[in-house]
This record gives sequence, C-alpha cells and structure tokens, in this order.
Amino acid sequence: MKKLFLIPLLLLVISVMNAQPAIDYYLPAGTQYDLSVPTPQSYFGFVPGTFHLSYDKLASYMETLASKADRVSLIRTGVSHEGNPMMMLVITSPANQQNLEKLRVDHLCNLDPASSPTAIRRDPLVVWLGYSVHGNEPSGGNAAPLVAYYLAASQSEEVRKMLDQTIVLIDFCLNPDGFNRFASWVNSRKSLVNNPDVNSVEFSEPWPGSRGNHYWFDLNRDWLWMQHPETEARIEQFHRWKPHILTDHHEMGSNSTFFFQPGVNSRSNPLVPPANFALTQKIGTYHAKELDAIGSLYFTEEMFDDYYFGKGSAYPDLNGSIGILFEQASSRGHLRRTEYGVLSFPYTIRNQVITSLSTLKASQDLNRELKYNQIDFYKSALAESSRFALKGYLFGDQHDPYRADLMAGLLMKHQVRLQRIKKPAFINGIHYLPESSWYVPLNQLQFRLIRTLFEEVTQFADSTFYDVSTWTLPYAMGLSFAGIDDKNLARISPEGFVNTIPPIASSMTGDQSQVGYLFTCDPYHLHKALYDLLTQGIRVNVATEPFAAQVNRQSRRFMQGTLFVPVQFQPVDGKTLYRQLGEWAKKYGIDISAVNSAYTVEGPDLGSGSFTQIAMPKVLCLTGEGLASREIGQIWHLLDVKFYIPVTLADVNRADQLNLGDYNTLILVSGSYAQLGTAFSDQLKSWVRNGGKIIALRSAAGFLNREGLMTLKSVRKESSGDNPAITPWADRNNDRIGSSLPGTIFATRLDTTHPLAFGYHQPILSVFRTGSQFYEPSPTAWENVAVYTDQPLISGYVSRKDLKTMAGTSAIQRQKSGRGAVIYFADDPVFRGYWTGQHKMMLNAIFWGNL
Ligand SMILES: [Zn+2]
Repeated sequence: MKKLFLIPLLLLVISVMNAQPAIDYYLPAGTQYDLSVPTPQSYFGFVPGTFHLSYDKLASYMETLASKADRVSLIRTGVSHEGNPMMMLVITSPANQQNLEKLRVDHLCNLDPASSPTAIRRDPLVVWLGYSVHGNEPSGGNAAPLVAYYLAASQSEEVRKMLDQTIVLIDFCLNPDGFNRFASWVNSRKSLVNNPDVNSVEFSEPWPGSRGNHYWFDLNRDWLWMQHPETEARIEQFHRWKPHILTDHHEMGSNSTFFFQPGVNSRSNPLVPPANFALTQKIGTYHAKELDAIGSLYFTEEMFDDYYFGKGSAYPDLNGSIGILFEQASSRGHLRRTEYGVLSFPYTIRNQVITSLSTLKASQDLNRELKYNQIDFYKSALAESSRFALKGYLFGDQHDPYRADLMAGLLMKHQVRLQRIKKPAFINGIHYLPESSWYVPLNQLQFRLIRTLFEEVTQFADSTFYDVSTWTLPYAMGLSFAGIDDKNLARISPEGFVNTIPPIASSMTGDQSQVGYLFTCDPYHLHKALYDLLTQGIRVNVATEPFAAQVNRQSRRFMQGTLFVPVQFQPVDGKTLYRQLGEWAKKYGIDISAVNSAYTVEGPDLGSGSFTQIAMPKVLCLTGEGLASREIGQIWHLLDVKFYIPVTLADVNRADQLNLGDYNTLILVSGSYAQLGTAFSDQLKSWVRNGGKIIALRSAAGFLNREGLMTLKSVRKESSGDNPAITPWADRNNDRIGSSLPGTIFATRLDTTHPLAFGYHQPILSVFRTGSQFYEPSPTAWENVAVYTDQPLISGYVSRKDLKTMAGTSAIQRQKSGRGAVIYFADDPVFRGYWTGQHKMMLNAIFWGNL
C-alpha cells in the first residue's frame, strides 16, 4: 500500500519538473481535428518537446501524414550525404491536390512577362515553410510536425479556406544529418528530471557540434553554391515552385528572445527592390500580433540582414519571393536557465509554430500584394535589363573548359540561360574560345541573380555585414570574364540557348608508343584522374620545366606541370598501358599525346631529372577541439567528394600515438595546436626533414612559428587616421557585428612557374580573405608563391587601414626544410567549397608540394 501511494507522488513531482504540454499548448485552442489523421503524440509516443525528434522519426511521421490525409502529399527531393531521404510535404485542399501539377505550371507561367497570365487572382499562393537548416537549432524541425498536423487535420473553416487558396510546402528539416546528430546527443544526455543548470553536459555538445551537415558545412551559406546534395535538392524545388513566401526558422543564443525579419534596412542588398522590405515588414505585424497574444518578447529591425544571397532568407529575395528569417533563443537542451528566465524546449517550439501560422494568416490577407510583388519582380528585372549598360557577360578559360562548364552548370541550376559563342574573341587581353567559353545575356528573368554573381562591389551604404561582403563568382572559380556591350556582342556572335552541358571528349594523339605519353595538368579535375592512375600502379612523372616535343611529327610546346607516363618500368606491358591510358582518358576527358622519342625539340629531354616521379599522396589532417571545423570539413569534402582521394582525419589529442611515417602530407587548419606535446613536435620536425610536407592554413601560422617549422613575420598595422577616442557609443552594436574585413576578394601576384602554380596561366590569382592578420613575404628567393598586389582590392568591403597594410604582404609561401617542405596559405583556399580557383593549388601542394 505504501509503495502504491509513493509512486503517484513521485510521478507528480516529476511531472511538475517535466510538465509536458498538451497539443493545445502549441496549436489554436478548441480546434476540432479529423480523427483519422494520426496526432504527433500518438505517432511518436510523446508530445513534441518531450524529447528531440530524430530525423527518422520526423520523416516517417510526415510520410504517414501523406498516406492518411487527403490534404497532404509528399515529394522526395534528394538524399543527404548520410543517405537520409529528403522530402517535402505539400499541403493544400483535396481539390488542389488532384490538380497540383497544373496549378504549379500555371503559377510559373504567370511569372513570365512573355506569357499571358491566365488566372492570377484564382491561382493559389505558394508558401514554403523551412525548418532547422542548422542541426543544433531544433525548435524548427520539432515544430514542423505540429504545423503539418494542424494543417492536415484541422476542421476549422479558416484552415479549409486557407488551403483552398494556398499550397503550403513544408521543408521540415533542411539538414537531416546535423539534425540527427544533435537529437542523438541531447536525448542521450537528458535526465528524467529536466535540469536547467547551464553547466549540465546536456548543453555542451562536443566538437565539432551539429550545426553543419555531414562535412561540417554551414548549409545556410550554400544556397548560391549548391556544394551539397541538401542544397541542390532545395534549389531545384525552389524553382519548381517559386514560392511567394519562404520562411527560414532558426535559433540564436540562449540569452535572447525571438527575432523575425525585416531586419536592418540599411544592410539590405540594393539589388532587391524596396517593395520586398516593405512587404516583409507588413507580414511582420502578423507575427507581432500573435506573439503579443502569448506575451512572447521579440525584436525585428536589428542585428540580422539580407545582404549575402547564399542564405535561406536572402536567396528568395533575389528570386521574386519574400524570404523571412526567424531566430528563436535556443534552449539547446530540454530546459535551460537564461538571462530571461528558465527557457523550455516546448516554449521555443511554440514560437516557431505560432509564427508559421501567422505567416499563413498574413499570406491570406496579403494575397494580391504577394502575387503582384512576384510578377512585378520579374517584369521590372526585364525592364531594368533593357536599360542596362551591358548586354551580358562572357566567361571562360581557354586552357580548362571544365571549370567554365562547372560554372555554367551552376548558373543553369539557378535558371540562368546561357549561350555558346560562334567565334573566338580577344577581349581585354584575354582569348575566349568557343569550346571553353559561355555567354550569359542579361536580358532574362534572372537579371538580378546574374548581376550579383558577376559584379564587383566596392561601394557600400553600410559597412556592417552579418556575413561576407562579396562573392563575385568568376574570381572564385578562377575564370576570366568580361562585360559585353553592343560592339563586343557582334564580335562574339552568341548561338542559341544551351540547356545541358555535354561531357568533354578526350583524345589520343598518336599511336601506341614505346617511349611514353604526355598530358597537361590544366583540367580542373586532373588530380582526381591522376590519383586513379596512381592507384592502378602506373608511374607518372611531372615536368618541372617547359619543353617542346614531337607529337605526330609536329613540334608541340608543353608547360611546366605537364605529366609524363613513361612506357618503361610500368607494372603492365606497352600494349596494355596504351589500352589502359585510352580508357582512363575517356573516363576523365583527358587529351593524351604519344611521344616516340625521349629527345625533345626544346628544353629538358624526357629522361632528364626535370621529370620527377609523383608519389601517391597519403594525407593526414589533424582534427578536434580547438581547430577550425569549417576548414577541416572543407578539406575533407574537397578530397573525399570532389577528388575521390582518402584523407585520414586524426584527433589532435591523440597525435602522440600517430606514426607520421605512414603519411607524406599533413594538413594543419586554423587553430592554436596548444595541445600538441613535445614528443609529437619532435617527430614532426624530423618527419619534415626526411621529406614530409606540411600544408598549413591561416592561423596555424602561430604553431609553425612557435615550433620553428617556418618563419612568418607579422606585418605592423598602418594607422587609419581615425581616432578611436571619438567612436560614437551609438555605433557599438554594429562594431561588434562588423569586422574590418568581413569577407572580401583581393588580387595577388602569382609566380606561375612555381610547382604549386602548375596549371595556372594568369599572373593574378584572386583570393578570399576574412580577418586581418598579415605576414611579410619571405626574404628568401623562390619561397613566395603569391603576394598581395600593391592595389589588391577587387570586390567587397575593407577598411582603409587594412587595405594600406595588406599591399605586398604574403598570400602563399613555401619554405623547404631538409627534404621536406612547409606550405602556408594566408587565406582559405577552399572557402565554402565553391572557391574552385584555388583547388588546383591545394592539390598541387598535396601531389608535388616538396619538389
Ligand atoms: Zn541558424
């Protein structure tokens, strides 16, 4: 009896600590529901907010909704890196569901000023609700099933009417892999009695956290670049539906309240028509009203902005939609003490549910305005383009059609229309060839998107940036480009529009040789192909000098960096080698030239010491607490996904147990490396002397200097002439957010004869810089691979002081050390994955960085 009495008492105590809200806590009270639609509680076995939903549970509930409710259908959009199927719910009236494809096509038709609008007033609105792009910001993804259930099952007249007029797309989790990682962590540290103590391990997820996706990328910076399947799938759906509104539900630091856009007007990107801000503001009044009704505090016109179009709330603005960012103070775990009081996970979910529904309410009332906003967006784009000084942009690389095709492919995914050119052209000192160039006319619907990807920007109304200040794509991809006016348009004579990019054909010049085969290192993906060849056991040499050789009885010039496969001393006979190389060339689209004599017309002969054998790369990258996870993820993604080269990510805290002899390349990303002991540093020094090579990025300079592995001397900062004593107090918030170098493109002078620059033909290399630590160039000859030019600014914001300081400083250095080498990149050569212009430099460093 005693026991029976105690148990309910205990449960009572626990239930107070862990009060679980009923469904009415989240959703409009008094709603009648269709009982045939399963509630989230009946499906999960708990009310959302009790535990964190794993992606699997979330996705399977959404699938069930689609199978049980006639208002709901489901689109499979892609598969994440970790094999999680990605999907989106479509919720609308059963009648609209029957007619969905026609409604979608009509909607797209109405946006094109060239087609005659059919029934704009009757066509449904498209509202896209997007949740939790950052894995450790879970309130959005946990709100999604509640919103979906309400829309699928509510019997209210208001919801019925809304679904007659609206197609609601629920992108219920934008980052399945990160979301799963976080749920798994936080559920596994949850106590029965929720404990708000911030010292609890529940709130300190281990490095690298789960904000990013599988490769630790921030998917909310990837909307323009589509480096990941998650974003690629999303952009495809975005353009299939072109929503009138797209919401982006995030979380921010715990000691805050709730934020919804419009954000800071002075920091809106000037390419977006002002009507967008005004409409976002109007929609904001609906969020304000609903949050006021429950006494939830918020702020709206500070901190966040819509400048960088790679973010989920800004990309829609550049595409005729209204993108809206929501930021909820995070409980991180289940219950957390904050400066504003004890914040529960359900509370954070409720704010996301409420603002999802207030968005839908606003869309009803502003139906007409939203439709004409989108139609006007495209109409005005065409009108502006016809008045614009330029007709279009030409881009390409006469030595590497692959990188040009990569960029063309990316533009096509953004619905940009491209053309090939008929004639070769010589513009601003650059040759553009028809087979390796593309023309982008500006007179098209994506006029504004094209501008943002091609224009250099150096004038800013506001010098505070939430993210980077520029992203001019041809510089990132190392491609030449030119604005085309009427006169040049006649010279290039563009051909019809191209919708797909055919694979580039390979060629074999000459027959089977008894001497060997040559190919250049120009193609973007050369090192991927090369690694494949090395794994087949084929011996490959790299030329360190230019030369000319007889190919098919004609003399042909080859640059330094040309690859040579001798016939002798290979694991296969000459005939097999010829066949194998032919197949390999076809697979990768490589042009091969057979040579029949080792005697060259000019420069070193093929048996000279200027042809050095390439060792199979064995790459180690230190990883772990205190190191820049973003940079590690980028390198991992670059090698693993783009180049198909294995890289060992080893924990920096266990470095003492490593045998460096198993590797020939060590990558050190930004970080202090204070945890490395003397045993490791002794091993490291002797490993480098014996031929090992270190590739170090950015703030790893401190470690190199400390260990005497490289000498990098800091440059003393120039004075700006501004007096900090009179910096207004009122500007302090902007100063906190802003950086004097928020992410800006600069020109460096490149030594194109250096082994790290093999395959580079232009003397100017553009680099992307965040942060203002500068180093002097090496005083030793041949050690400076790239140095900032005297007037380095290409695009983006930089303070006068930093611009003055950086001229002539070091960008890339290589110092020999015994038989090994240390290579230092002052800037991130793999920035956000899309900075492809420097990938070859990174791969050169890995394959022959200690030549
Ligand atoms: Zn976020």
